[in-house]
Amino acid sequence: MKRGKNIFIVCHCLLNSNAKIYPLADTKGVYTDDLAPLIRKGVGLVQLPCPETSYLGLSRWGMTKEQYDNKAYRDFCKMILHPILLQITAYTQAGYTISGVAGMDGSPNCGIAKTCIGYRGGEICSGNEQNLGSNLEMVAGRGVFMEILEELLKAEGIVPPFVSLHEENSE
Ligand code: SF4
Repeated sequence: MKRGKNIFIVCHCLLNSNAKIYPLADTKGVYTDDLAPLIRKGVGLVQLPCPETSYLGLSRWGMTKEQYDNKAYRDFCKMILHPILLQITAYTQAGYTISGVAGMDGSPNCGIAKTCIGYRGGEICSGNEQNLGSNLEMVAGRGVFMEILEELLKAEGIVPPFVSLHEENSE
């Protein structure tokens, strides 16, 4: 039996950059360079769903943490994380190690050490520039989706380290 019984949870776009908003995908598909050390270690990868693509599709605009941070969206995140939690708890009950969770720094949802704030929204029109990104800021802290995942894992007694394997290119 060759299985390593070692699982790493990764945010969706590390394995599929097509989920990212335009024009942030800076690789064609898989972030192979970022994932290579994990793959070499022999861990299994469990891919999280992309909350933004699931909620708003691929025509969504870039948004910030405040814009996603409301009860309806948090409830949605909990709902799409439920099947993943079932998988993860199945592994831990069977004695497997959950050795980490990897996110994408800068994301309002999957940021680990860094997330973005300051884009307050409103109509996209001239005269609203101050709300449309001019005050966009990167700040320390988790994105909404990772905050929720961490809470749900903790409630199950699972406390893996959270790491960012890539940073969103916000240029
Ligand atoms: S960072 Fe998270 S929310 Fe953004 S595209 Fe990747 S998986 Fe989706």
